Amino acid sequence: MVDDFSDKTVIVTGAARGIGRGIAEKLGGAGASVVIADVRETKMRETASELREDGVTVETVSCDVTSKADAERLAERTVDRFGGIDALVNNAGIGSRGSFEELDHEAWQQVLDVNLTGVFNCSKAVVPEMIDQDGGSIVNISSMAGQNISYHGAANYTASKWGVIGLTKHMAWDLGEYDIRVTAVCPGSTLTPLTEAGTSEEERAATTEKIAMDRWASPEDHAAAVAYLVSDASSYVTGTVLEVDGGKQLSVRNEI
Ligand code: NAD
Repeated sequence: MVDDFSDKTVIVTGAARGIGRGIAEKLGGAGASVVIADVRETKMRETASELREDGVTVETVSCDVTSKADAERLAERTVDRFGGIDALVNNAGIGSRGSFEELDHEAWQQVLDVNLTGVFNCSKAVVPEMIDQDGGSIVNISSMAGQNISYHGAANYTASKWGVIGLTKHMAWDLGEYDIRVTAVCPGSTLTPLTEAGTSEEERAATTEKIAMDRWASPEDHAAAVAYLVSDASSYVTGTVLEVDGGKQLSVRNEI
């Protein structure tokens, strides 16, 4: 059943707020033991206590996904507390604005470090445990920018999200023999603190015009997709990239 996760332990990175929080709520609400990993410590603790009030079993681990040591500690703490790791959702990410001429090397590196190397670090940290327990599911949150370009963001963001898709597919190939499935979700335009800070109201209204379903996504839309990919219902699905964009790609591709 897609909606019963009571036998699963799931790590969600970047779950203090936004899409990651929505994923933690959905999986935790369906019985999963959830580990929230984030750099935003105060917000992470607030989110965890709100989830606990709703009956979710949740732990927090302060973790900067750009750090190999933090990622390894995240995996260790999860195994110590819950006895295993059934799924990792690599959701932590940051945005970026500006034209290519404005993009400097520091901003390039920072976005690649969080959005792409962060996925590598956390995946490397959990895979040995998943191999030991004969399987697992890793779901990477890419973006529709990873299928085309980010119209609100910069080239480093686009490159990082294409990188996440490449990493997803190669990991799926390498880890299939261990029954570790690796998939990606590409959210379209989603109302979260990231996009509220990075776009004007006018830009958001112009984007809505291009979405077939005539609305921005909510974190819950992506949480439902992630729930399917974590669940046993997708037991033969790996290397797959699931676009959850309300049909916005149709409009963008028509314009080219
Ligand atoms: P958000 O800013 O609301 O949340 C991101 C979370 O990641 C925050 O809690 C933040 O503290 C955490 N984080 C940032 N850097 C971190 C690090 N180094 N280590 C650990 N945690 C870190 O953003 P969101 O909109 O919820 O985005 C979540 C994911 O979805 C990102 O990967 C983003 O690129 C992707 N995405 C978002 C949209 C959108 O429209 N919002 C669209 C496509 C893809």
